[in-house]
Amino acid sequence: MILLHNAAQLVTPLENGEFSVIENGSIAADGERITFVGTSSEALHSYPAAERINVAGKVILPGFVDAHTHLIFGGDRCSEFLMRLRGATYQEIAAAGGGIQSTVQATREASEEKLLRDSIGHVQRMLEMGTTTVEIKSGYGLNWESERKLLSVAKALRSKTPVEIATTFLGAHDFPRGKSKDEYMEELLEVMLPAVQRERLAEFCDVFCDEGYYSIEQTRLISHRAKELGFKIKLHVDELADVNGAALASELAAISADHLILANEDGIGKMAEAGVIAVLLPGTSFALRVKQHAPARKMIQSGVRVALATDFNPGTCFSHSMQYVLQLACLLYGLTPEEALTAATLHGAAAIDRKKQIGSLEVGKQMDCLILDIPHYGYLFYNLGVNRLETVIKRGKVIWNKN
Ligand SMILES: [Zn+2]
Repeated sequence: MILLHNAAQLVTPLENGEFSVIENGSIAADGERITFVGTSSEALHSYPAAERINVAGKVILPGFVDAHTHLIFGGDRCSEFLMRLRGATYQEIAAAGGGIQSTVQATREASEEKLLRDSIGHVQRMLEMGTTTVEIKSGYGLNWESERKLLSVAKALRSKTPVEIATTFLGAHDFPRGKSKDEYMEELLEVMLPAVQRERLAEFCDVFCDEGYYSIEQTRLISHRAKELGFKIKLHVDELADVNGAALASELAAISADHLILANEDGIGKMAEAGVIAVLLPGTSFALRVKQHAPARKMIQSGVRVALATDFNPGTCFSHSMQYVLQLACLLYGLTPEEALTAATLHGAAAIDRKKQIGSLEVGKQMDCLILDIPHYGYLFYNLGVNRLETVIKRGKVIWNKN
């Protein structure tokens, strides 16, 4: 039994839609489960024998749920990023061998051991910024051998890090070179999806449905086949163009639709009706310096639950930090700190179908929480670019400490 007490604030969204701030807060867990949330005076009275941690002057938050990453890949694209900072165009970068296909090549060449070692490092950096659960997508293999290698690394990661991992098959991230689109579609439908399912390598299936990538019709075919096999559906949509991806996500009863920078009003309304979570990725928009940002306010007003994630990947957002994403969501989208925190915890959990277990500090849920050395949760937004995290607790155990 563990008891944190004397917190300046215990801050959490609640399942009922409210946002709770308890001054002089306390939380207790028996093993993995939260057994008490309330004030310190109540807690000390009810649990006199518990192992106590005094967190006076600090803030307790739920662990962050990063619901969209591509964290297993070979190589890096630092030089491409620098080219962009120096003003290179997309065409110039492509001519210099950059872009997603360069990561595909480096990933195919990398050994499973090397990919695992690198991925452990990435997850560790995420943990040190407060992420306690992360979703990981395949998608830099684009053939069965390499996609399987990526999914195997994701599986192996589970026993190498205390951070919880949800896995998504994104064989439809792009089309591979040297094959026709129809040939690859057939491979996805007839070989890869059934094999991923047979070997239990992923829980979700995702498709990059956008201009120049997978069409609405191809996305339908892949998603229907995936649903038949028991996968839950996620979609990358409406990032590069409005392809009516938001409406498609609701038609397919996807658990989430991600990016959505150019999603139209009709699609947003349909997502609200179908309960599709919008996973927004402000780090990517910021790094790509796009002119338009995802219509987060319109989504919230329409009743769509908005989640936030890093989109951590070697090309368009090389950031491990959910704290950075929270700050960007307020500064770029105009979310309130309370909306952003809800998006980075409870709605992130919903986007990976773990809402019952994680995402808020409520009795019965998993004890996944953060202790920050700040006097008020507002400092998480006010103190830009500085990590004030002190301790991370996952399933009732301290898994990281600053010192
Ligand atoms: Zn992505």
